[in-house]
Amino acid sequence: MNRFSTLLRSLRIPVTVQRLAVLRAVEASPHSTADRIAALVRAEIGVISRQAVYNVLGTLVEKGLLRRIQPAGSPALYETRVGDNHHHLICRGCGKTVDVACAVGARPCLTAEDDAGFLIDEAEVIYWGRCPACRKTKPVSPGAPEHA
Ligand SMILES: [Zn+2]
Ligand SMILES: [Zn+2]
Ligand SMILES: [Zn+2]
Repeated sequence: MNRFSTLLRSLRIPVTVQRLAVLRAVEASPHSTADRIAALVRAEIGVISRQAVYNVLGTLVEKGLLRRIQPAGSPALYETRVGDNHHHLICRGCGKTVDVACAVGARPCLTAEDDAGFLIDEAEVIYWGRCPACRKTKPVSPGAPEHA
């Protein structure tokens, strides 16, 4: 009995080989796209359609077992770290994605100057920049003149 089976049962979600394989794949490879998760799941259990993987991901996100983040210009990324309001650092060069704890810890962690009457429940925070490896390999920013 592994903890993912227990977790699924506690939420009254039928335990299936597919669901367990998806959870294991996302845990092993956080911030993966659905396509990468599908490849990992196939390596573990054999044939599974892309649509089936999407369906499983959708159910697990809906039930709060997975978190989906949707960075601008990127396919959705999935992770098993749920229940905290952590944010992400994403490299503009290679797409490397790193968790960063929220300084406040609870949603929404930014106060809007004017909420316009909305009941705000979330502020989406993504830090964009260049990871250490990309800073090393491309010290000159694109378009910047080369110095002789
Ligand atoms: Zn990078
Ligand atoms: Zn994360
Ligand atoms: Zn925060």
